[in-house]
Amino acid sequence: MPEGSNAGEPLLAILGGTVVDALGERRADVLVAGTAIVEVGEGLEVPTGARRLDAEGCVVAPGLVDLHAHLREPGFEESETLETGARAAALGGYTAVVAMPNTDPPVDGAAVVHHVRTLAAKATCRVEVAGCITAGRGGERLAPMAEMAEVGVRIFTDDGAGVQDGDLMRRALEYARGLGVTLAQHCEDASLAAGGHMHEGSWSSRLGVPGIPAAAEEAMVARDIALARLTGGRLHLLHVSSAGSLGLVAAAKAEGIALSAEVAPHHLALSDAALAGFDPVFKVNPPLRSPRHVLALREACASGLVDAIATDHAPHPPEAKDLPLEHAAFGMLGLQTALPVAIGALCRGLPAFGTAPDDHAGPSHMSLANLLGLLSWGPARIAGIALDQGGDQGGPLVAGGPANICVIDPGATWTVDPAQLASRSSNTPYAGWELQGALRHTVFRGEPVVVDGQAQR
Ligand SMILES: [Zn+2]
Repeated sequence: MPEGSNAGEPLLAILGGTVVDALGERRADVLVAGTAIVEVGEGLEVPTGARRLDAEGCVVAPGLVDLHAHLREPGFEESETLETGARAAALGGYTAVVAMPNTDPPVDGAAVVHHVRTLAAKATCRVEVAGCITAGRGGERLAPMAEMAEVGVRIFTDDGAGVQDGDLMRRALEYARGLGVTLAQHCEDASLAAGGHMHEGSWSSRLGVPGIPAAAEEAMVARDIALARLTGGRLHLLHVSSAGSLGLVAAAKAEGIALSAEVAPHHLALSDAALAGFDPVFKVNPPLRSPRHVLALREACASGLVDAIATDHAPHPPEAKDLPLEHAAFGMLGLQTALPVAIGALCRGLPAFGTAPDDHAGPSHMSLANLLGLLSWGPARIAGIALDQGGDQGGPLVAGGPANICVIDPGATWTVDPAQLASRSSNTPYAGWELQGALRHTVFRGEPVVVDGQAQR
């Protein structure tokens, strides 16, 4: 029983839903006391005084876990803060996010780790702080990884950029192996990507916009797989976007190399044709790719080759984003839309934006349970915060387990209004879209932080 829980008195009852977690699917109510689940079963008796959350027609699942969120604090509070980012996360069904370390100062030592944790202490989700691989994200010498691992950092990344120097990455993987931590790479060969603003393909030619070839990603994926093989260090590939990368991942996994891979929802739902109007809201790195890549990513999610769906939530203020395409910042919001966008792409098989309606949309048979695996218990394990790793995320929802829960209405539709999103920024590519799948309630450490789609604080 987690600390602070009171097994005597159920205070919260989630009623009438279908529990879906790694153990399977069953009709069940869930009773929560303090920070813990105390009972899961059908037709439970609800003590008087308990707060009731209606889950009729809904899926009750372990809270989602995002491996990849830019919460921007400290240093870029005009874009996002830990408070607003965590609120957006809770409204998206997340009870934990991994905060990327490309802040100012960057998270490259134990002091900054402590600072971010202090800022996040009252956040409405767990904020797992990632540390930099190199000092100042400069790519020249290693950050004090041991010092950060000592205070509990489990994921290291220079995200925003890949570690370009192969020998430095080799040494980082050697350290990572010794420390038992994971290196999360933004796979991009900077020399191949330099000057590009979108995917290099027929659309970039037609629009006359300099492109970023898929090879810029694939080259680093191939190199890092070779280095993971050489060192035995654990590697996680951030926002994989190219079909070629997936082939490399499949071969590496078949060989038994310790690696995992994530895909971002926008790479599943949008194609490079979205850039046809030069709208900078669709500028993201890695770029939206051609339908061939989108289809391959969808198939890799359905087949289990991909281990997680992660948002790459990247808020930017208008002065950085509402600019001509070549001057606009890379990145888009993701936390509040990830679940319904992924449902649309993977469970409903909607064609990717920018592809012809009769284009093959890929597999549309993915169950919500399998999708939740990619959004919750899969990423919880990669982040090292799953239950059997001593953490409190990813479920399963059982008596005695931590009460980190989301309640989803899979049939409900809603229209994305950028002004209504909790993020401090509004750079969502889905403005005006009607999405199916709505987050109804989120319970974080026993506290209902979202009720009927409304943030409670
Ligand atoms: Zn990145």
